[in-house]
Amino acid sequence: MPFFVAVLLLLAAAVAAPAQTVPPSRLTEAVVARPDVREALSFIDRNFDRQVAEWISLTEIPAPSGQEAKRGAYVKAELEKLGLTVATDSMGNLTARRRGTGGGPAIVFAAHLDTVFPVGNDITVKRRPDGTLHAPGVFDNTASVVNMLQAARAMDAAKIRTQGDVLFVATVQEEVGLKGMYYWFDQNPKTADLLVALDSALGPINYGALGIYWSRMKFTAAGAHTNNSRGQPSPARAAAQCITDIYTVPLPPADAPVSAVYNVGGLMTAGNVVNAIPAEVTFSVDLRTVDPELILSLDTQIVARCAAAAAAHKVGFAREWIQRSEAGGRPEQLTERRNHPLVQTSIDVLRYLGVELPRGREALATGSTDANVGVVRGIPSIAVGRARGGDQHTLQEWSDIESAKIGTKQIVLLAAALAGLQ
Ligand SMILES: [Zn+2]
Repeated sequence: MPFFVAVLLLLAAAVAAPAQTVPPSRLTEAVVARPDVREALSFIDRNFDRQVAEWISLTEIPAPSGQEAKRGAYVKAELEKLGLTVATDSMGNLTARRRGTGGGPAIVFAAHLDTVFPVGNDITVKRRPDGTLHAPGVFDNTASVVNMLQAARAMDAAKIRTQGDVLFVATVQEEVGLKGMYYWFDQNPKTADLLVALDSALGPINYGALGIYWSRMKFTAAGAHTNNSRGQPSPARAAAQCITDIYTVPLPPADAPVSAVYNVGGLMTAGNVVNAIPAEVTFSVDLRTVDPELILSLDTQIVARCAAAAAAHKVGFAREWIQRSEAGGRPEQLTERRNHPLVQTSIDVLRYLGVELPRGREALATGSTDANVGVVRGIPSIAVGRARGGDQHTLQEWSDIESAKIGTKQIVLLAAALAGLQ
Protein backbone atom coordinates (compact mmCIF):
# COMPACT_ATOMS: atom_id res chain seq x y z
CA MET A 1 0.00 0.00 0.00
CA PRO A 2 1.45 3.43 -0.89
CA PHE A 3 2.39 5.48 2.14
CA PHE A 4 -0.10 8.30 1.50
CA VAL A 5 -2.94 5.78 1.18
CA ALA A 6 -1.98 4.31 4.53
CA VAL A 7 -1.95 7.78 6.07
CA LEU A 8 -5.33 8.54 4.55
CA LEU A 9 -6.74 5.28 5.91
CA LEU A 10 -5.34 6.05 9.35
CA LEU A 11 -6.89 9.50 9.22
CA ALA A 12 -10.17 8.02 8.09
CA ALA A 13 -10.07 5.52 10.95
CA ALA A 14 -9.40 8.33 13.40
CA VAL A 15 -12.33 10.34 12.06
CA ALA A 16 -14.63 7.31 12.00
CA ALA A 17 -13.79 6.32 15.56
CA PRO A 18 -16.88 6.71 17.75
CA ALA A 19 -16.89 9.94 19.69
CA GLN A 20 -18.04 8.11 22.77
CA THR A 21 -15.52 5.65 24.04
CA VAL A 22 -16.49 3.22 26.71
CA PRO A 23 -14.91 4.26 30.00
CA PRO A 24 -12.87 1.59 31.79
CA SER A 25 -15.60 1.50 34.39
CA ARG A 26 -16.06 -1.27 36.84
CA LEU A 27 -18.32 -1.99 39.69
CA THR A 28 -16.68 0.24 42.27
CA GLU A 29 -17.28 0.76 45.95
CA ALA A 30 -18.58 4.20 45.04
CA VAL A 31 -21.26 2.74 42.76
CA VAL A 32 -22.61 0.20 45.24
CA ALA A 33 -22.49 2.70 48.11
CA ARG A 34 -24.69 5.26 46.36
CA PRO A 35 -28.10 5.76 47.98
CA ASP A 36 -29.96 5.56 44.63
CA VAL A 37 -28.30 2.25 43.72
CA ARG A 38 -28.94 0.84 47.18
CA GLU A 39 -32.55 1.95 46.95
CA ALA A 40 -32.97 0.21 43.58
CA LEU A 41 -31.59 -3.05 44.99
CA SER A 42 -33.82 -2.74 48.01
CA PHE A 43 -36.83 -2.12 45.73
CA ILE A 44 -36.11 -5.49 44.10
CA ASP A 45 -36.04 -7.22 47.50
CA ARG A 46 -39.19 -5.50 48.74
CA ASN A 47 -41.22 -6.19 45.59
CA PHE A 48 -40.06 -9.70 44.87
CA ASP A 49 -43.41 -11.38 45.59
CA ARG A 50 -45.03 -9.21 42.95
CA GLN A 51 -42.22 -10.00 40.54
CA VAL A 52 -42.77 -13.72 41.01
CA ALA A 53 -46.51 -13.31 40.46
CA GLU A 54 -45.81 -11.45 37.21
CA TRP A 55 -43.28 -14.12 36.21
CA ILE A 56 -45.95 -16.79 36.60
CA SER A 57 -48.62 -14.87 34.69
CA LEU A 58 -46.27 -13.92 31.85
CA THR A 59 -45.08 -17.52 31.47
CA GLU A 60 -48.71 -18.51 30.97
CA ILE A 61 -49.08 -16.21 27.93
CA PRO A 62 -48.11 -18.44 25.01
CA ALA A 63 -45.35 -16.97 22.82
CA PRO A 64 -44.02 -19.39 20.23
CA SER A 65 -41.50 -17.80 17.85
CA GLY A 66 -43.42 -15.57 15.44
CA GLN A 67 -46.44 -15.36 17.76
CA GLU A 68 -45.09 -13.10 20.49
CA ALA A 69 -47.62 -10.27 20.01
CA LYS A 70 -49.71 -10.91 23.13
CA ARG A 71 -46.69 -11.21 25.39
CA GLY A 72 -45.16 -8.20 23.68
CA ALA A 73 -48.28 -6.11 24.28
CA TYR A 74 -48.04 -6.79 28.01
CA VAL A 75 -44.35 -5.85 28.14
CA LYS A 76 -44.96 -2.68 26.12
CA ALA A 77 -47.76 -1.56 28.44
CA GLU A 78 -45.62 -2.15 31.53
CA LEU A 79 -42.69 -0.14 30.15
CA GLU A 80 -45.05 2.66 29.16
CA LYS A 81 -46.26 2.85 32.77
CA LEU A 82 -42.72 4.05 33.58
CA GLY A 83 -43.10 6.91 31.16
CA LEU A 84 -40.94 5.28 28.51
CA THR A 85 -41.80 5.51 24.83
CA VAL A 86 -41.84 2.01 23.38
CA ALA A 87 -41.25 1.52 19.66
CA THR A 88 -42.47 -1.66 17.96
CA ASP A 89 -40.79 -2.59 14.68
CA SER A 90 -42.40 -4.54 11.87
CA MET A 91 -41.19 -7.88 13.22
CA GLY A 92 -42.51 -7.17 16.72
CA ASN A 93 -39.29 -6.24 18.55
CA LEU A 94 -39.90 -3.67 21.29
CA THR A 95 -37.46 -0.90 22.13
CA ALA A 96 -37.70 1.43 25.13
CA ARG A 97 -34.99 4.04 25.54
CA ARG A 98 -34.35 5.37 29.02
CA ARG A 99 -32.50 8.56 28.24
CA GLY A 100 -29.25 9.36 29.96
CA THR A 101 -27.90 12.79 30.74
CA GLY A 102 -25.20 12.41 28.10
CA GLY A 103 -21.56 11.44 27.94
CA GLY A 104 -21.84 7.72 28.60
CA PRO A 105 -22.18 4.70 26.34
CA ALA A 106 -25.60 3.45 25.28
CA ILE A 107 -26.17 0.04 26.81
CA VAL A 108 -28.78 -2.29 25.35
CA PHE A 109 -30.37 -4.99 27.48
CA ALA A 110 -32.13 -7.55 25.27
CA ALA A 111 -34.44 -10.33 26.39
CA HIS A 112 -36.24 -12.53 23.90
CA LEU A 113 -39.98 -12.90 24.20
CA ASP A 114 -40.39 -16.16 22.31
CA THR A 115 -40.36 -19.74 23.52
CA VAL A 116 -39.87 -22.99 21.62
CA PHE A 117 -43.26 -24.34 22.71
CA PRO A 118 -46.16 -24.38 20.24
CA VAL A 119 -49.61 -23.21 21.22
CA GLY A 120 -51.35 -26.16 22.85
CA ASN A 121 -48.57 -27.20 25.20
CA ASP A 122 -49.65 -26.99 28.83
CA ILE A 123 -47.76 -23.94 30.09
CA THR A 124 -49.47 -23.69 33.46
CA VAL A 125 -46.86 -22.85 36.07
CA LYS A 126 -46.50 -25.17 39.04
CA ARG A 127 -44.85 -23.75 42.13
CA ARG A 128 -43.22 -26.35 44.33
CA PRO A 129 -42.45 -26.08 48.06
CA ASP A 130 -38.72 -26.38 47.29
CA GLY A 131 -38.74 -22.84 45.89
CA THR A 132 -38.92 -23.68 42.20
CA LEU A 133 -41.28 -22.89 39.33
CA HIS A 134 -42.03 -25.50 36.68
CA ALA A 135 -43.43 -24.81 33.21
CA PRO A 136 -42.27 -24.72 29.61
CA GLY A 137 -40.71 -21.31 29.01
CA VAL A 138 -40.55 -20.31 32.68
CA PHE A 139 -36.75 -20.20 32.54
CA ASP A 140 -36.00 -19.58 28.86
CA ASN A 141 -36.71 -16.76 28.63
CA THR A 142 -39.67 -15.48 30.64
CA ALA A 143 -37.47 -15.08 33.70
CA SER A 144 -35.24 -12.62 31.82
CA VAL A 145 -38.15 -10.60 30.45
CA VAL A 146 -39.57 -10.15 33.94
CA ASN A 147 -36.15 -9.40 35.42
CA MET A 148 -35.71 -6.69 32.81
CA LEU A 149 -39.11 -5.15 33.56
CA GLN A 150 -38.42 -5.18 37.27
CA ALA A 151 -34.94 -3.68 36.84
CA ALA A 152 -36.51 -0.85 34.83
CA ARG A 153 -39.04 -0.28 37.62
CA ALA A 154 -36.32 -0.36 40.29
CA MET A 155 -34.23 2.23 38.43
CA ASP A 156 -37.31 4.38 38.01
CA ALA A 157 -38.39 4.10 41.65
CA ALA A 158 -34.86 4.92 42.86
CA LYS A 159 -34.56 7.80 40.38
CA ILE A 160 -31.27 6.49 39.02
CA ARG A 161 -29.89 8.87 36.41
CA THR A 162 -27.34 7.36 34.07
CA GLN A 163 -25.08 9.28 31.72
CA GLY A 164 -25.48 6.90 28.80
CA ASP A 165 -28.87 5.82 27.51
CA VAL A 166 -30.18 2.50 28.77
CA LEU A 167 -32.29 0.62 26.24
CA PHE A 168 -34.65 -2.18 27.13
CA VAL A 169 -35.26 -4.36 24.09
CA ALA A 170 -37.64 -7.32 23.94
CA THR A 171 -36.84 -9.37 20.85
CA VAL A 172 -38.82 -11.87 18.82
CA GLN A 173 -37.85 -15.09 17.02
CA GLU A 174 -34.64 -15.66 18.95
CA GLU A 175 -35.24 -19.39 19.04
CA VAL A 176 -35.36 -19.68 15.25
CA GLY A 177 -31.97 -18.18 14.44
CA LEU A 178 -31.84 -14.87 16.35
CA LYS A 179 -33.98 -13.38 13.61
CA GLY A 180 -35.50 -10.57 15.66
CA MET A 181 -32.12 -9.36 16.91
CA TYR A 182 -30.59 -9.47 13.42
CA TYR A 183 -33.48 -7.35 12.19
CA TRP A 184 -33.19 -4.99 15.14
CA PHE A 185 -29.50 -4.36 14.39
CA ASP A 186 -30.31 -3.76 10.73
CA GLN A 187 -32.86 -1.14 11.78
CA ASN A 188 -30.70 0.37 14.56
CA PRO A 189 -27.13 -0.04 13.29
CA LYS A 190 -25.50 2.67 15.42
CA THR A 191 -27.59 2.50 18.57
CA ALA A 192 -25.77 0.07 20.83
CA ASP A 193 -22.34 0.79 22.29
CA LEU A 194 -22.72 -2.25 24.53
CA LEU A 195 -25.10 -5.20 24.31
CA VAL A 196 -26.16 -7.43 27.18
CA ALA A 197 -28.38 -10.35 26.23
CA LEU A 198 -30.38 -11.61 29.19
CA ASP A 199 -30.62 -15.27 28.38
CA SER A 200 -28.86 -18.10 30.17
CA ALA A 201 -28.37 -19.69 33.56
CA LEU A 202 -26.49 -17.69 36.21
CA GLY A 203 -22.84 -18.59 35.86
CA PRO A 204 -20.00 -17.86 33.46
CA ILE A 205 -20.55 -14.90 31.13
CA ASN A 206 -20.54 -15.54 27.41
CA TYR A 207 -18.68 -12.94 25.36
CA GLY A 208 -18.30 -14.85 22.09
CA ALA A 209 -20.60 -16.36 19.55
CA LEU A 210 -21.00 -19.99 18.63
CA GLY A 211 -21.52 -20.23 14.89
CA ILE A 212 -24.48 -22.45 14.05
CA TYR A 213 -25.33 -23.51 10.51
CA TRP A 214 -28.49 -25.51 10.00
CA SER A 215 -28.90 -26.78 6.44
CA ARG A 216 -31.41 -28.91 4.66
CA MET A 217 -29.85 -31.11 1.95
CA LYS A 218 -32.35 -31.88 -0.74
CA PHE A 219 -31.96 -34.59 -3.39
CA THR A 220 -34.49 -34.81 -6.21
CA ALA A 221 -35.29 -36.93 -9.27
CA ALA A 222 -38.35 -37.95 -11.28
CA GLY A 223 -39.12 -40.97 -9.08
CA ALA A 224 -40.33 -44.30 -10.42
CA HIS A 225 -42.36 -47.34 -9.38
CA THR A 226 -40.15 -50.18 -8.15
CA ASN A 227 -41.13 -52.20 -11.25
CA ASN A 228 -39.56 -49.48 -13.40
CA SER A 229 -36.77 -48.48 -11.02
CA ARG A 230 -33.86 -50.44 -12.49
CA GLY A 231 -31.12 -48.01 -13.52
CA GLN A 232 -33.16 -44.93 -12.59
CA PRO A 233 -31.60 -42.09 -10.57
CA SER A 234 -32.35 -42.50 -6.88
CA PRO A 235 -32.35 -39.55 -4.48
CA ALA A 236 -32.37 -42.08 -1.62
CA ARG A 237 -29.09 -43.60 -2.72
CA ALA A 238 -27.53 -40.18 -3.25
CA ALA A 239 -28.66 -39.04 0.20
CA ALA A 240 -27.33 -42.23 1.78
CA GLN A 241 -24.01 -41.77 0.00
CA CYS A 242 -23.83 -38.15 1.06
CA ILE A 243 -24.55 -38.93 4.72
CA THR A 244 -21.81 -41.55 4.72
CA ASP A 245 -19.41 -39.13 3.06
CA ILE A 246 -20.21 -36.20 5.36
CA TYR A 247 -18.85 -38.21 8.24
CA THR A 248 -15.48 -38.38 6.49
CA VAL A 249 -15.09 -34.58 6.81
CA PRO A 250 -12.30 -34.30 9.38
CA LEU A 251 -12.86 -32.37 12.60
CA PRO A 252 -10.25 -30.97 14.98
CA PRO A 253 -9.79 -33.22 18.04
CA ALA A 254 -12.57 -32.83 20.59
CA ASP A 255 -10.10 -31.53 23.17
CA ALA A 256 -8.46 -29.02 20.81
CA PRO A 257 -8.62 -25.38 22.00
CA VAL A 258 -11.17 -24.77 19.28
CA SER A 259 -13.16 -27.66 17.96
CA ALA A 260 -16.31 -28.18 15.96
CA VAL A 261 -19.22 -30.60 15.77
CA TYR A 262 -21.64 -31.63 13.10
CA ASN A 263 -24.57 -33.95 13.06
CA VAL A 264 -26.98 -35.30 10.48
CA GLY A 265 -30.58 -35.19 11.73
CA GLY A 266 -34.11 -35.07 10.33
CA LEU A 267 -34.09 -37.57 7.45
CA MET A 268 -37.26 -37.40 5.34
CA THR A 269 -38.67 -38.94 2.22
CA ALA A 270 -41.41 -37.22 0.27
CA GLY A 271 -44.43 -39.53 0.07
CA ASN A 272 -42.75 -42.11 2.24
CA VAL A 273 -43.92 -45.04 0.09
CA VAL A 274 -42.35 -48.49 -0.05
CA ASN A 275 -42.87 -49.33 -3.69
CA ALA A 276 -41.21 -46.42 -5.45
CA ILE A 277 -38.04 -44.42 -5.87
CA PRO A 278 -38.84 -41.24 -3.94
CA ALA A 279 -38.90 -38.04 -5.94
CA GLU A 280 -37.33 -36.17 -3.05
CA VAL A 281 -35.20 -37.04 -0.04
CA THR A 282 -34.01 -34.48 2.48
CA PHE A 283 -31.98 -34.50 5.64
CA SER A 284 -30.68 -31.75 7.87
CA VAL A 285 -27.17 -30.96 9.06
CA ASP A 286 -26.30 -29.06 12.23
CA LEU A 287 -22.76 -27.64 12.18
CA ARG A 288 -21.25 -25.66 15.07
CA THR A 289 -18.00 -23.99 15.99
CA VAL A 290 -16.82 -20.61 17.29
CA ASP A 291 -14.15 -20.38 14.56
CA PRO A 292 -15.38 -18.27 11.61
CA GLU A 293 -12.91 -19.75 9.08
CA LEU A 294 -13.41 -23.30 10.29
CA ILE A 295 -17.18 -23.11 10.00
CA LEU A 296 -16.95 -21.92 6.40
CA SER A 297 -14.40 -24.58 5.52
CA LEU A 298 -16.42 -27.40 7.10
CA ASP A 299 -19.61 -26.17 5.49
CA THR A 300 -17.95 -26.06 2.06
CA GLN A 301 -16.67 -29.60 2.49
CA ILE A 302 -20.04 -30.91 3.63
CA VAL A 303 -21.88 -29.32 0.72
CA ALA A 304 -19.24 -30.58 -1.71
CA ARG A 305 -19.72 -34.15 -0.45
CA CYS A 306 -23.46 -33.84 -1.13
CA ALA A 307 -22.97 -32.30 -4.57
CA ALA A 308 -20.56 -35.10 -5.50
CA ALA A 309 -22.97 -37.78 -4.29
CA ALA A 310 -25.79 -36.19 -6.28
CA ALA A 311 -23.65 -36.05 -9.41
CA ALA A 312 -22.58 -39.67 -9.01
CA HIS A 313 -26.19 -40.76 -8.74
CA LYS A 314 -27.45 -38.34 -11.40
CA VAL A 315 -29.98 -36.62 -9.17
CA GLY A 316 -30.66 -32.97 -8.42
CA PHE A 317 -29.21 -31.37 -5.31
CA ALA A 318 -29.83 -28.16 -3.43
CA ARG A 319 -28.76 -26.92 -0.03
CA GLU A 320 -31.42 -24.86 1.73
CA TRP A 321 -30.67 -22.81 4.83
CA ILE A 322 -32.79 -23.46 7.89
CA GLN A 323 -30.81 -21.10 10.15
CA ARG A 324 -27.48 -19.40 10.02
CA SER A 325 -25.75 -17.66 12.92
CA GLU A 326 -22.19 -16.61 12.34
CA ALA A 327 -19.23 -17.57 14.52
CA GLY A 328 -17.66 -14.86 16.67
CA GLY A 329 -14.06 -16.00 16.77
CA ARG A 330 -11.61 -18.29 18.51
CA PRO A 331 -10.70 -17.43 22.12
CA GLU A 332 -7.33 -15.96 21.15
CA GLN A 333 -9.02 -13.73 18.56
CA LEU A 334 -11.32 -12.45 21.28
CA THR A 335 -8.71 -11.61 23.93
CA GLU A 336 -9.55 -7.93 23.68
CA ARG A 337 -13.21 -8.69 24.18
CA ARG A 338 -12.37 -10.77 27.22
CA ASN A 339 -10.50 -7.82 28.70
CA HIS A 340 -13.24 -5.34 27.88
CA PRO A 341 -14.76 -3.47 30.85
CA LEU A 342 -18.11 -4.99 29.90
CA VAL A 343 -16.87 -8.49 30.69
CA GLN A 344 -14.81 -7.41 33.66
CA THR A 345 -17.67 -5.47 35.18
CA SER A 346 -20.09 -8.36 34.71
CA ILE A 347 -17.75 -10.69 36.54
CA ASP A 348 -17.47 -8.18 39.38
CA VAL A 349 -21.24 -7.75 39.52
CA LEU A 350 -21.89 -11.48 39.78
CA ARG A 351 -19.23 -11.89 42.47
CA TYR A 352 -20.70 -8.94 44.37
CA LEU A 353 -24.10 -10.64 44.24
CA GLY A 354 -22.61 -13.86 45.60
CA VAL A 355 -22.52 -15.98 42.44
CA GLU A 356 -19.58 -18.35 42.47
CA LEU A 357 -17.79 -18.38 39.14
CA PRO A 358 -15.32 -21.12 38.25
CA ARG A 359 -11.75 -19.77 38.42
CA GLY A 360 -10.33 -19.25 34.96
CA ARG A 361 -13.72 -19.85 33.38
CA GLU A 362 -15.57 -16.76 34.59
CA ALA A 363 -16.20 -15.78 30.98
CA LEU A 364 -16.31 -18.01 27.91
CA ALA A 365 -15.67 -17.17 24.25
CA THR A 366 -18.87 -18.82 23.18
CA GLY A 367 -22.58 -18.21 23.35
CA SER A 368 -25.76 -18.88 21.50
CA THR A 369 -28.02 -15.93 22.27
CA ASP A 370 -29.05 -12.55 20.89
CA ALA A 371 -25.59 -11.34 21.98
CA ASN A 372 -24.11 -13.25 19.02
CA VAL A 373 -25.52 -10.65 16.67
CA GLY A 374 -23.58 -7.90 18.44
CA VAL A 375 -20.41 -10.03 18.64
CA VAL A 376 -20.26 -10.63 14.89
CA ARG A 377 -20.84 -6.89 14.29
CA GLY A 378 -17.88 -5.97 16.48
CA ILE A 379 -19.97 -4.48 19.30
CA PRO A 380 -18.87 -5.45 22.82
CA SER A 381 -21.56 -7.96 23.73
CA ILE A 382 -22.20 -10.48 26.45
CA ALA A 383 -24.91 -12.87 27.54
CA VAL A 384 -25.64 -13.10 31.25
CA GLY A 385 -27.87 -15.32 33.32
CA ARG A 386 -31.37 -14.82 34.65
CA ALA A 387 -31.60 -17.32 37.55
CA ARG A 388 -30.65 -20.88 38.34
CA GLY A 389 -32.65 -23.50 36.52
CA GLY A 390 -32.56 -25.99 33.73
CA ASP A 391 -34.17 -28.42 31.30
CA GLN A 392 -34.96 -25.56 28.95
CA HIS A 393 -36.65 -26.46 25.68
CA THR A 394 -38.28 -29.43 27.40
CA LEU A 395 -41.65 -29.80 29.10
CA GLN A 396 -39.75 -30.29 32.40
CA GLU A 397 -38.26 -26.79 32.28
CA TRP A 398 -37.83 -25.26 35.74
CA SER A 399 -36.32 -22.32 37.54
CA ASP A 400 -35.21 -21.58 41.04
CA ILE A 401 -37.24 -18.61 42.28
CA GLU A 402 -34.93 -16.80 44.71
CA SER A 403 -31.98 -16.51 42.32
CA ALA A 404 -34.03 -14.36 39.93
CA LYS A 405 -33.36 -11.56 42.45
CA ILE A 406 -29.69 -11.84 41.54
CA GLY A 407 -30.53 -11.82 37.83
CA THR A 408 -32.56 -8.65 38.35
CA LYS A 409 -30.09 -6.78 40.57
CA GLN A 410 -27.38 -7.64 38.08
CA ILE A 411 -29.17 -5.57 35.43
CA VAL A 412 -29.36 -2.51 37.69
CA LEU A 413 -25.70 -2.79 38.68
CA LEU A 414 -24.54 -3.28 35.09
CA ALA A 415 -26.53 -0.25 33.96
CA ALA A 416 -25.21 1.88 36.83
CA ALA A 417 -21.58 0.79 36.47
CA LEU A 418 -21.38 0.81 32.66
CA ALA A 419 -23.63 3.66 31.55
CA GLY A 420 -22.15 5.86 34.28
CA LEU A 421 -24.05 7.62 37.04
CA GLN A 422 -24.95 11.26 37.07
ZN1 LIG B 1 -33.25 -18.31 25.24
